[in-house]
Amino acid sequence: MRAAAGKRGFQVARHFNLVGIAAMHLGAVWALWHYGWRPLDVAIAVGFYVLRMFAITGGYHRYFSHRTFKTSRVFQFLLALVGTTATQKGPIWWAAIHRRHHRESDGPNDVHSPLQRGFWYSHIGWVLSAEHEAYDEREVRDLVKYPELRWLDRWHVVPVVATIALTLALGGMRGLTWWYCVSTVALLHGTFTINSLSHVFGKRRFATTDDSRNNWLLAIVTMGEGWHNNHHRWQSSTNQGFYWWEYDVTYWILEALSLAGVVSDLRTPPQKVLDEGRRGTPAPFREVVANKLDAVAGQASELGEKVRDAVSLPSPADAE
Ligand SMILES: [Zn+2]
Ligand SMILES: [Zn+2]
Repeated sequence: MRAAAGKRGFQVARHFNLVGIAAMHLGAVWALWHYGWRPLDVAIAVGFYVLRMFAITGGYHRYFSHRTFKTSRVFQFLLALVGTTATQKGPIWWAAIHRRHHRESDGPNDVHSPLQRGFWYSHIGWVLSAEHEAYDEREVRDLVKYPELRWLDRWHVVPVVATIALTLALGGMRGLTWWYCVSTVALLHGTFTINSLSHVFGKRRFATTDDSRNNWLLAIVTMGEGWHNNHHRWQSSTNQGFYWWEYDVTYWILEALSLAGVVSDLRTPPQKVLDEGRRGTPAPFREVVANKLDAVAGQASELGEKVRDAVSLPSPADAE
């Protein structure tokens, strides 16, 4: 059962991706070069970044992908709506790709693993590629049952176009390039560092089966997502900073929203995981080597398939 957003939606999305992301980068460069750093523009761009980074980390990631807390249908829609203005496609698509990332983490079927297709592909190449537009509805059964989420997922370009129109109406070209382009480009790269850098640089507190890392700098940029090795160890926890010194602004905001009664049932990791982390057990050497060998074996078999296709040889399975 492939696809979910319909062919027309995919075509729109594909062109929007390539041309839109390139134009957004040009707009950001133009803003910095032509308009300079006016404090009001910087403040609006930062504010818009923080709001949408929260919609991605608290909404797309911790709510839609992992269901780590509960909320009303209205706030669920609001998280999805603000999330779409981050220009990272729809919430259902995002959750489906992300659930696969956890299941296949750093294996051959992980869409954005730096171990599989290199750093740049894991950072942004996979988003620009037309390969990953479709998703398996079976991975997101809990989300596709909401018609309003399906609509947003299919027409995720609508809130983006509305945001562009609004910034243009309120601030002219300066508003469009500074408030939308600069802020959104920073947001895209900030989010994507979790797929690329957080699987390469940082410390491994837990011996997970992937290459995820904890990185304090990325935790600042992404409002708490940099504790990515913690997250791969216990993905159903709302907080990703497991200890008091691990800065997790997204979780602090969710705690405040929980006190206000907007969200509820925030989940935390069990004591045994916290104790395991305190012991600071490094990944056993054997396990690290086994992971690397698995990744290499996956690449080798894929390459074998390609060579077999290229010379039109039957695969061993077909020959039997
Ligand atoms: Zn996750
Ligand atoms: Zn990861």
